[in-house]
Amino acid sequence: MYKRILLKLSGESLMGEQQYGIDENRLNEYAAQIDEISKLGVQIGIVIGGGNIFRGLKGTERGFDRVKGDQMGMLATVINSLALQSAIESRGVKCKVLTAIRMEPIAEFFSKHRAIEALESGNVVIFSGGTGCPYFTTDTGSALRGIEIEADVMFKGTRVDGIYDSDPEKNSNAKKFDTITYDEIYSKGLKIMDLTATALCKENRLPIVVFNMDTAGNLKKVVLGENIGTKVTN
Ligand code: UDP
Repeated sequence: MYKRILLKLSGESLMGEQQYGIDENRLNEYAAQIDEISKLGVQIGIVIGGGNIFRGLKGTERGFDRVKGDQMGMLATVINSLALQSAIESRGVKCKVLTAIRMEPIAEFFSKHRAIEALESGNVVIFSGGTGCPYFTTDTGSALRGIEIEADVMFKGTRVDGIYDSDPEKNSNAKKFDTITYDEIYSKGLKIMDLTATALCKENRLPIVVFNMDTAGNLKKVVLGENIGTKVTN
């Protein structure tokens, strides 16, 4: 079993059946899966995106300044983080949100020391606000926090069950990889995460497991090392 993990959830997946915002059922399903693995004793860091509320690039299409749009996106990740914290805490699991931008009293400011102390005393820790900088994504924020907290692995919870050589929704012969290297990701032009996030993981030898988080029980399976997704390594 992994000892310390970083779980990346997309903001978009929080929409569930909705077109926008937060679907409480989906939120509670995620909280239940996180509760399940916290009972195993694994230390859990989480990064959640903001695409269900606001994306900087979409903002520029509507005339927003990119930097302000990205700041709006980062604030959206804080909103999602607070919602997830609330759902996790309502199950009796200790959960702390840290922010990449100072905004006490909403949550404490991130530091490696604060994060590790909270993880070691049994808190689920949600890292909100991405990297705190515009022009980045929460995938990069997630890779960065994963490396900083010395996580064993980054789990990327998605709506698909792994990485394929072509789009499985368009090509019925698409082949799923059980394992793949970062170099193959580049050479085959596969888009798992943006290049910044992928480079950060590769350079710091942080493995990623891509799996389907929307099936209950899957998070526990990947934490226990079951090979249900795709593992990316150096
Ligand atoms: N964002 C940013 N810096 C970061 C992380 C996020 O500027 O370090 C902004 C960016 O505008 C992005 C938005 O926050 O579009 C939401 O994050 P992301 O798109 O990664 O969320 P997801 O697509 O996973 O829901």
